This record gives sequence, C-alpha cells and structure tokens, in this order.
Amino acid sequence: RRKKIVQECEQLMDAPGQIRNIAIAAHVDHGKTTLTDNLLAGAGMIADEGEATRLMMDTEEDEQERGITIDAANVSMTHTYEDTNHLINLIDTPGHVDFGGDVTRAMRAVDGALVVVDAVEGAMPQTETVVRQALREGVKPALFINKVDRLISELQEGPQEMQERLQTVIADVNELIRGMTENRDDINDWTVSVEGGTVAFGSALYKWGVSAPSMIETGIGFPEIIEMEQNDKRKQLHEETPLSDVVLDMVAEHFPDPLDAQPRRIPRVWRGDDSSNLATQMRDVTDDGDVVFMVTDISMDPHAGEIATGRLFSGTLEKGQELYVSGTVGTNRVQSVGIFMGGEREELDRGVPAGNIAAVTGLRDAIAGSTVSSVEMTPFESIEHISEPVITKSVEATNMDDLPKLIQTLQQVAKEDPTIRVEINEDTGEHLISGQGELHLEVITKRIQSNQGIPVQTGEPIVVYRESPQNASREVEGVSPNRHNKFYITVEQLSDDIVDAIQLGEVSMDMPELERREALQEAGMDKDTSQEVEHIHGTNILIDDTKGIQHLNETMELVIEGLEEALDDGPLAAEPTQGALLRLHDAKLHEDTIHRGPAQVIPAIRDAVHRALIDGDIKLLEPIQDVRIDVPSAHMGSASGEIQGRRGRVDDMFQEGDLMVIEGIAPVGEMIGFSSDIRSATEGRASWNTENAGFRVLSDTLQREKIMEIRERKGMKLELPGSVDQF
Ligand code: GDP
Repeated sequence: RRKKIVQECEQLMDAPGQIRNIAIAAHVDHGKTTLTDNLLAGAGMIADEGEATRLMMDTEEDEQERGITIDAANVSMTHTYEDTNHLINLIDTPGHVDFGGDVTRAMRAVDGALVVVDAVEGAMPQTETVVRQALREGVKPALFINKVDRLISELQEGPQEMQERLQTVIADVNELIRGMTENRDDINDWTVSVEGGTVAFGSALYKWGVSAPSMIETGIGFPEIIEMEQNDKRKQLHEETPLSDVVLDMVAEHFPDPLDAQPRRIPRVWRGDDSSNLATQMRDVTDDGDVVFMVTDISMDPHAGEIATGRLFSGTLEKGQELYVSGTVGTNRVQSVGIFMGGEREELDRGVPAGNIAAVTGLRDAIAGSTVSSVEMTPFESIEHISEPVITKSVEATNMDDLPKLIQTLQQVAKEDPTIRVEINEDTGEHLISGQGELHLEVITKRIQSNQGIPVQTGEPIVVYRESPQNASREVEGVSPNRHNKFYITVEQLSDDIVDAIQLGEVSMDMPELERREALQEAGMDKDTSQEVEHIHGTNILIDDTKGIQHLNETMELVIEGLEEALDDGPLAAEPTQGALLRLHDAKLHEDTIHRGPAQVIPAIRDAVHRALIDGDIKLLEPIQDVRIDVPSAHMGSASGEIQGRRGRVDDMFQEGDLMVIEGIAPVGEMIGFSSDIRSATEGRASWNTENAGFRVLSDTLQREKIMEIRERKGMKLELPGSVDQF
C-alpha cells in the first residue's frame, strides 16, 4: 500500500496544478494538532487516530523499530476532490509567535494558511499575529472554527446563538484581513465567508465538520448538528460529514496552486532583480531552470544525518547537484532528495521538481532560513544583524542517561534556530543555551522536553552584559613576571559604525586585506590605522603600530592569546568587551625564546589590556529591547505602565485598527517575567513583541550595583579592580 502511495505522490509532484502547499496557523490550544491528526487519518496516511500524534513524538525507540525518519514539521497527503487527485503538503508553524522569524519562514514556503479558531475563545492575539504574518507574505487564508461541540454541550446554545457566535468570529477575522490587504492590487478579495466556501466549522475532537458545500450535499445544518451532538450520535455525524473531507475539499478548491501563487508571491518575498531570468523562472515554476530552494527546517536523522526541508521555487532538485547556500562560501553536494508521506520522509530515485516541498540531505552548511541555489543569487531572507544572545540559562538532563541525547538535541536546536547559541561551561560542565529573551529560551527548553521526551532542569535566566571603554586611555606598560618583556598599549573607543560593520560581517580577518581596509575606511577609520589591523576579536580590533621590533612576529600569537583572554573576561565583571581599539605601540622582548614563552607574554598582555581599558573609562553595558504592545485602549495605561516600571521608556503610542500600539524600549534584564505581568495587567488582551536593540551603557548610579551583583554570582572578589574609581 505504501508503494502505491509513493507512486501516487510521484505522479502528483510533476503536476503543479494539483499541488497545495499549506500551513495551519492557530493560537495555542485552539486545536491545530488534533485537526492535523484528523487530516492525516482521513487521507489514509495513518491507520488510526492518535497515530499522527505518536508519529510526531519522534522517539528513538519508534525510529529504530520502524527504520524511518519522522519529522514533526512536515506532513504530506493526497486527497481526491472532484475526481482529481491532489498532493497536499502541510508545513508546521511554531505555536509561539514571539519569534516572528520562525513563523515568517514557514509562511514563506506555503501558499495557503488554514486559520484555526476556537469557537468559545474566539480570535485571540496570536490569531491576529499569524493572520498578519500570512497576509504579509501573500499567503491566502481560509478559516476553520473548531470546538463547536462545546457550544452545544457546555454552553447549551441553540441554532440562532451558535450562528451569531460563528458570525462574530468570521467578522473579527475578516476585519484583520481587510486591514492588511487594503491597497493591494495583487489580492482581490481575500476575506472569508461561509457562502464563498472559505469557512468551515466543526469539532476536531469528534471529527466532524461542515461547510456550505457539505451542507448542500448532506442536508446537515445547525439543527441537525445540535440534535446529533445532544443524542450521542457523534459517530454518525462524523460519518456523514467527515472533518477531513470538508477541510481538504476546501483546501483543494480555494487555496492557490504554485502556478497561481508564485507569480504573485515572488515579487513580495524576494528582493532580487525582478526583471532577471531567475525571477521569471521562479514566477513560472520552471522545473528545468535554475534551482532555487528556501529551507524552512533542519532536522537530524540518526542514519541520514541532517535533513533540510523547504520549498522549491524553481528547478529540479537532484542527487549529486552542487548548490550554493546563502551566507556561506563554496557549494554543498546533494546526497539524497525526497518528499514526505504522512510524516515520514521517503527518499526518491528521481528529482523533485519546482512547486514542491522537498527534503534534502547533504546541505551541511544550510540552516533554517537559508536560500539554496544552483547559481549565486540574492537570498530570500537577507541576513540581518548577527543577533547576539542576551540571555543565558543552564540546561541539564534530569537523568544522566539522557546526556548524549541532550547534547545532540542542543546541537540540532542551534541549527534550527540560528539565533540560539549552545556552549559548555568548562568549569561546571553545565550546558548553557543563550538566546534572544526569556520567552525564547522557555520555548526552546519546552521543545526539548516535550518533543524529544528528555526531562531537563534549567537554571535561572542570566542576562549577558558587555564592557566597553568610553574614552582614550594613556599608554600603559605591561611587564612579564620575569621582567624581561615589556609591552606598551593604549585603548580607544571604536565608533558605532565600525562596530556595526564588524557585526554585519562587512569587516573580518577572513576577507582579503585590501577589501578590509576599504570597508574600515568607509566606516570611518583613518587610512593609516586601517593598514595596521593585526587582529579582530568580537567587535574589538588590535592595531600593531610598532616598527621593526625583533622577534615580535614570532611572539604575536601569544600577544593575541593574551589579548583575547583579557577581552573575553573584561576587567569590571568578566563580561565580554566590545568596541575597543587596542594599539600596540612598542615592545621589548628577551633575546631567548625560552624567556618569552606563554607564561611570560600572556599575563603581561592581559594585565596591560585590563589596565588600559580601566584608564579608558570602561563601563558596563546592558542589553536593551524594543518593545511593541498591541492592546485595546481601555488597557493602554496599565500596559505602558509595565514598560515604564521596568526602567523602560515609552516612545510612541498610536492607533492601528481598533487597537492601540505602544512602542518603547526596556532593558532585557527587567523584561524577565514580563510575559505573565502584562497578561495580568491587561486581562490577557495584549499581544506583544520584543526585538533586541543592542547594548546601552548603564547609568552611573547602577554601575557599581550591577558590577557587584555579577561579581558575586561569579564568585569573584567583591571589590572593583585597582584604579577603577569613577563609580
Ligand atoms: P494546539 O495547541 O492548537 O495543537 O491544540 P490541540 O490540538 O493540542 O488541542 C488542545 C486541546 O483542545 C486538547 O485537549 C484537545 O483535545 C482539545 N480539542 C481540540 N479540538 C477540540 C474540539 O473540537 N472540541 C473539544 N471539545 N476539544 C478539542
């Protein structure tokens, strides 16, 4: 039977008119998982209900037993509608929307979004966010109103009340759609309606569903539903109007196929040259053109290695191809290509053509969000600021036996989400994960816990600070313990433009020297200095201003080692240093190698760098975030109070639709606990987003307090180093 389904899928792959690439988007708990189970069971991809859930668990045992890969993020199924078979590829969207990038990536791969709303709760802030994201990407919405059984059994509503409630949900969703699609010529009317067939409702739990076409076909409307629900005839209801048929019919009828969608979507999601050959190939879903593949997900397979899944906009993916991966150098070789069937990956002997969702191995440099192509091209999502993690948490497996699995999972998590960093604390052996905010780390640990079935314990979230000089220092002498070697160093503050250029990767030690000089000069560095760059570490630069000093070349490696140690653990609180320009002016070195080894040079440099930084008025910097809150005007005061009460600042308030938008900034450290505080302050009516906005010098009154707090946590001496007297 499996073989037959594979053949069926292979045939459909070549017929883009019969493909639908879709996502299900919902507020948490509104029923996305239960609905997905229904669809897979209904499409005959799994034998019984509940199996889909098991498929998604992705346990090792399961995998060994079955010898296959199970991927929670992608499922494909076939469905016959009006005598035509369809291939329906469903991409998972993350349940949490605080990390817009994730959802956008998933939306970029699909052409239709099935929005699921709980009939009792109605449209929630996260519903709004996902609908916005879909529309921004040019993805067409349809609506499924779930848990209608509760209106009958719990709320005892009659046909009239039920209808009114459903109308309210539909009206709310349409208001969002109207607001977002106004002034868009490429979209006619994307509002949803029962009469138009783009709204269905039912119960994912009891597996029944209705839509206008189904009501006409079966004669089952509100009164019949109520009667059957009340008299325990749910099974009959399911058999008459199976939810999967109702929803998949709607998908086949109303969602665009790739041929229809790509010409409209490409200009919206790709900033490259619209008149290029490549643009034409993508718009036309050209299967014999250049390969353009957008990676939405990376998962780990114990046998096949890393699997990159994504949407193929142009060309045909084939084994053995050499492909470029955006943001990296050189090419990767495709080891295997496949598609999904149910939740399982199926390797194919043939290529996968444009318009499909493909699963590829061999793309070792790809991360979630990469653009993979046979020609070098403008990537889909341009790589923005190298996002620096601002908060850290320790993660430990509750059971020691899980340690290897935890390590593997952490590595995978870091590939899936490029804004996560994973390290081992050498002193304690703890695993540390660093990310963009408290909630970000919470979601990651939850994912490890529930998806991977690894019970973990986590530490308190810890904010990552920076140390940075504010002025130029005097010249400082560093002397080695044997007193035979001396180094003369000064510190200056690097301009923001230069720091930005390093962070954006426009300046690095990997690039040709001439290019680096030009980039530094463009960012404002004087010509002479730009010619003497010896090393870049983090966002700090070492300049070698010495002339003709014997043995310095052979000693430089040790100088750099000492410098890096000093910068990684800054003098104030052993936090990383940023934005420092260090100049080596002069050095005196012992004739004999043995007297200028690591034990001499490293401490001399480390000490000199620290003292120069202190003389350059080094200060502690804290990470800050831009905060945006959308809230009904009645809760505006309490919502803005939540920002102001956190050493934050409100910069702007304005109306958008029927909501007020509050924009401001606040320190990351003060935002810990914001999630639950804002919920209670606004009765759950606020939706909010944060985005990291770099580091800011802490006020003078807080310098000493925070430095001591960090020193205490790290077990350092509770006094400021030597000559720090400015606080
Ligand atoms: P998700 O977070 O959107 O994936 O939601 P789930 O599918 O996990 O569902 C959340 C909860 O709602 C679960 O306890 C489901 O059993 C329940 N649920 C889902 N659909 C229905 C429904 O149609 N009726 C009722 N009464 N409960 C449902």
